[in-house]
Amino acid sequence: MKTFTIGNYLVFNKRIGKGAFSRVYKGFHIKHPDNIVAIKQIEHDNITKLAKNIKREIEVMKKLNHMYILKLYDVVYDYDNNNIYLILEYCAKGDMTSFLNSRPLKEKYVKKYMYQLSEGLKYLYKHKIIHRDLKLSNILISDTNDIKISDFGFARYFDSDTMVETLCGTPLYMAPEIMKYKNYTIKADLWSIGIIMYQMLVGKPPYNAKTFYQLVKMIDKYKPQLPNGLFVSPECSDLLFSLLVKEPTNRITWENFFNHIWIKNYISESMMIENNLINIDF
Ligand code: ATP
Ligand code: MG
Repeated sequence: MKTFTIGNYLVFNKRIGKGAFSRVYKGFHIKHPDNIVAIKQIEHDNITKLAKNIKREIEVMKKLNHMYILKLYDVVYDYDNNNIYLILEYCAKGDMTSFLNSRPLKEKYVKKYMYQLSEGLKYLYKHKIIHRDLKLSNILISDTNDIKISDFGFARYFDSDTMVETLCGTPLYMAPEIMKYKNYTIKADLWSIGIIMYQMLVGKPPYNAKTFYQLVKMIDKYKPQLPNGLFVSPECSDLLFSLLVKEPTNRITWENFFNHIWIKNYISESMMIENNLINIDF
C-alpha cells in the first residue's frame, strides 16, 4: 500500500475517516512499526496562530490517561502546508455511528456505554475540560468493545461562527440555548449526551429536521418522546428525560448525572454477574 511520511510517522494513503476540518489515516512510528496509530490531519488557514493557542492545551491532553478517553500520543506541526497532525490511539471498530448502524441497542448495553461515557466525562470534568462537540461520531469503539471519547476541547479553537456553520451539517446534538442565543453553558454537553442516549435506545435521534431553523422550532414545540412500543425501565427513562430538558437551568446537573441511579446500578449489576460466575466455577 502507498504511504507518505509525517515527521517520524509512516502514513498509509488510504483514508479511514473524514470530518469537517480533518482527514484521518492509519500509520505507525518508524521505530515502532507494530504499534498502529490513527493520524488525524487538521487543516486550518492560519495554523501559526492556532498552534500558539493550542500548544499548551495539547500538553495537558497528552498527560490525560483514562481507559474511556482516546489517548493523544503526539502532535506534528506542518507550518508550510498549514496542517496539524494529531497522533492518536487507533480504534479498530471505528465510531459509534457505524457501530450502531441505525439499530437500537438493548437497555443493558445502553447502560454499559452510558456508564463508560459518564466515567470518561467525569475524568475530563475533574480536569476542567468540557467537551463541546459530543456526538456519536466522536465516540470511538476499541477492539474490546469499550468506548473512547475523542475530540474534546478542540472545538473552542474554531471561532463560534465557523462552529455554527459546520454544525449546521449536524446541529442535531446542539443544545437549544446555543442554537438560539449562541449561548454556551457548561450544561450544553448534557443535552448532547441525552441525544446520544436516545440514539442508542431508539436507533435514531429524537428530532428529525431538515434545517437548522426547523430543528429549533421542533425542539420548542415538542417534548422528546420514546416511540410507542419501546419500553425501558423507569430509571432509564428518568435519566433520558432529565438530560433532554430544553431549559439549561432545569436540566440535570453534572454531579447528578455522574451519580444517577441507573448508571450507578451498572457497577453493582456487573459485580453480581461476576459473583454468579464465580459461584458456578466452584
Ligand atoms: P467532526 O469533524 O465534526 O469532528 P467527525 O468526528 O466525524 O466529525 P473526525 O473526528 O475527523 O470527524 O473523524 C472522522 C472519522 O474518522 C470518525 O468519525 C471515525 O470514524 C474515524 N476516526 C477518527 N479518529 C479515529 C481513531 N483514533 N481510530 C479510528 N478511527 C478514527
Ligand atoms: Mg470527531
